Amino acid sequence: MGEGMKIVAFKIEGNGTFAKDVPAIAEAVKASGADLVLMSGNSRVKRSAPAAAFRAGAEIDTNVVDVEVVDGKAVERRWVYRQRIFTEFTRAAKPWVIVTDPSLFDEICAKTGAECVAFTEDAAAATRTTVNGVENAGTGGESTIKPDAKLLFVAGAGWTKKQADGAVHFEEAAATITGFTAKANASLGSSKSLVDMPEAAAAFTFMSHMNQVGQTGSTPRHQKGLATCCHGEEPHVVGWRFINERRTINLDANCGWAQGKADVVYVADAFAVMKKVNELLG
Ligand SMILES: Cc1cc2nc3c(=O)[nH]c(=O)nc-3n(C[C@H](O)[C@H](O)[C@H](O)COP(=O)(O)OP(=O)(O)OC[C@H]3O[C@@H](n4cnc5c(N)ncnc54)[C@H](O)[C@@H]3O)c2cc1C
Repeated sequence: MGEGMKIVAFKIEGNGTFAKDVPAIAEAVKASGADLVLMSGNSRVKRSAPAAAFRAGAEIDTNVVDVEVVDGKAVERRWVYRQRIFTEFTRAAKPWVIVTDPSLFDEICAKTGAECVAFTEDAAAATRTTVNGVENAGTGGESTIKPDAKLLFVAGAGWTKKQADGAVHFEEAAATITGFTAKANASLGSSKSLVDMPEAAAAFTFMSHMNQVGQTGSTPRHQKGLATCCHGEEPHVVGWRFINERRTINLDANCGWAQGKADVVYVADAFAVMKKVNELLG
């Protein structure tokens, strides 16, 4: 008998799920206030008891064939190394969960004088999440990626480069790009060079790496595409493989797009062209 020790036995039988049994067994172990908790090692217990013991801050041993209380200390016995070595040991941990061989459970309970305590399956209910309402996380702003749009508008690094007057025009570029995508209801794509540029990230808050089209970006499926200030390098254009009607605006008549990658190349200043287009769109 376990003098000075509280030994409790739970009879957990029938069917149960891991999700419900783990919190219920953990709660039962904690609430019992026992030093030693005995359970019969059926499949339900073996599935959930280890996780429950961890949750309850207990230690656990399974496949135990004998428990004895010697000088106020529990000693358990089990086979190891494929039933070749018979071991006997004790633990300082409290609570200590011992899962016995099912056929030996009653015998061990009787021998140790364990108090049989009813197992309450409803304990899990207390930890169940209750939904008070649903709130949309939002995107932090209007989304510029519109998979259903007819047109893909790609902005390249040229929008951040020094222009004919020797200066950069971030604000004008941002207003022109967003003005067009809003008016034409176009999806916004980008080249890798643009989204990788820290100064562009600060100025073009409406775009991120999610907008990048290409080998290491996305492969959108819009009907038409218009690339602006984008050179048309192969790692970028490979992302256009599902876009059949392709146009581009570039100052460079020898840009990559002109090498058979676009149907129409407008050799022009994209700032001026897109500003005019925005005016025409009203
Ligand atoms: C392994 C690997 C993977 C890669 N994956 C990708 C990828 O997924 N997507 C991607 O985009 N790139 C990718 N790249 C990078 C790619 O090779 C190019 O470096 C990149 O696409 C160039 O971006 P860009 O054309 O915007 O910039 P730039 O090469 O700097 O071209 C800017 C263009 O803007 C034009 N321009 C400047 N001012 C104006 C103006 N006022 N009007 C009109 N045109 C103007 C210039 O003539 C120039 O052609 C990858 C590279 C490697 C090595």
